Amino acid sequence: MEQTFAIIKPDAVAKNQIGDILAVTEAAGFKIKAMQMTHMTRKMAEGFYGVHRERPFFGELVEFMTEGPCVLLCLEREDAVAKWRETMGATNPANAAEGTIRKRFAESVGRNCAHGSDSKENAAIELAFFFAGNTLV
Ligand code: ATP
Ligand code: MG
Repeated sequence: MEQTFAIIKPDAVAKNQIGDILAVTEAAGFKIKAMQMTHMTRKMAEGFYGVHRERPFFGELVEFMTEGPCVLLCLEREDAVAKWRETMGATNPANAAEGTIRKRFAESVGRNCAHGSDSKENAAIELAFFFAGNTLV
C-alpha cells in the first residue's frame, strides 16, 4: 500500500465542499489515514510551496492558501500518488477530465480546490511536514 498527501484547499472548505470531495475520495478507493483541519500561517504556506518561490503566482498562491482553513489528509491505496493526481484532475480545471475533483469543484488554475503530492518522495516529505508521527495510523 502507498500513501500520499492531499489538501482540500480554502476555496472548497469555504464553499462547504469538504463532504462532497471526501465522498469522491472514498469512492475512488482511498482510505483516509489521517485528517486535520488547519488554517495555514504564511510561514507554513511559503515552506510548503517553496519550490514555486520564483514563480509569478507565488504571492497569490500564499495569499490563497492562508485565506481560510484547509483540510490536510493522508490517503492510502495501491498506487496512491498517481491515482490521487488522476482523481483530482489537471491543475487548471479548464483542462481537467470530466468527473475529476478539479473539474467538478475548482474555480480556476489558482483556486483549484485540492492538492496532491507529485511523487512518492514528495509525499513522504509533505506527510512529515504536516503530520506528527503519532497522528499517522
Ligand atoms: P498542487 O501542488 O497544489 O497539487 P499541481 O501540482 O497540480 O498543484 P503546481 O504546478 O504544483 O500544480 O502548482 C501549485 C499550485 O499553484 C497550483 O495547484 C495552483 O493553486 C497554483 N498555480 C499553479 N499555476 C498557476 C498559475 N498559472 N496561476 C495561478 N496559480 C497557479
Ligand atoms: Mg504541485
